[in-house]
Amino acid sequence: MDATGVAARATDLWKVYGSGEAQVIALRGVNVELERGRFTAVMGPSGSGKSTLMHCLAGLDSVTRGRVCIGDTEVTGLGDAGLTRLRRDKVGFVFQQFNLLPTLTAAENILLPLAIAGRKPDRQWYDTVIDTVGLRDRLGHRPAQLSGGQQQRVACARAMVARPDVIFADEPTGNLDSRSGAEVLAFLRRSVRDYGQTVVMVTHDPNAASQADRVIFLEDGQIVDEMRDPTPEAVLDRLKGLDASAAAPDAAATTNAGGSDRRC
Ligand code: ADP
Repeated sequence: MDATGVAARATDLWKVYGSGEAQVIALRGVNVELERGRFTAVMGPSGSGKSTLMHCLAGLDSVTRGRVCIGDTEVTGLGDAGLTRLRRDKVGFVFQQFNLLPTLTAAENILLPLAIAGRKPDRQWYDTVIDTVGLRDRLGHRPAQLSGGQQQRVACARAMVARPDVIFADEPTGNLDSRSGAEVLAFLRRSVRDYGQTVVMVTHDPNAASQADRVIFLEDGQIVDEMRDPTPEAVLDRLKGLDASAAAPDAAATTNAGGSDRRC
């Protein structure tokens, strides 16, 4: 993590899929800084580039042009081995589909990334994480024996236990009922507030986004707006404006945070 309080940064980030007539420009020069110890939500219409941005930031997808830094590591400069280390040591993931291994218990799932990395868990931190997500009495259960909300809490604990620089969450409440979704959001929020975790979350849900400190709005591969201390109503209003202006993308002013700084 660098001294400027930036956990992750994208600079003039472009992502182009395919070529010729099949070409899709998913990201068009995105500049953004994600502050350390903050909860940032990424919103925008379907197809606006939210998942692509998150995958490029997390080193899960290559970029066409531009730079991505996580802490002081330039992700876009890494080879395969470096990317594997980055994904193992510096980032945590929470996916809509939970992505737990069905044959492992909750505890084994939570500890798996550390086991693969050959790292011993910090026992005290492990206990804190387990108590924070409220899974103490479910640790010996397999995913099929857990509710969706409990499975997602296992996934959150798995992401957090390695103390990553950034947790990336892709629609983490997308498969959950509203109560379980609220629990997962409360946990993510608490990991930021109480433990200084950095969380970046893609969501369609204004209620989920309102849990964040800051919402970034994407449209047609560009950041077109952002909001601090969001409320569900304000987020919903802004989204309506985006959908209405989708036919005229040039009308949207780019208020990209960050800039031309080339340092990580
Ligand atoms: P969002 O997450 O906002 O719905 P995505 O990042 O998934 O948007 O997609 C942005 C654009 O890139 C869309 O037009 C989508 O069809 C396109 N896209 C995403 N992934 C691929 C891919 N692997 N190949 C080709 N086009 C893709």
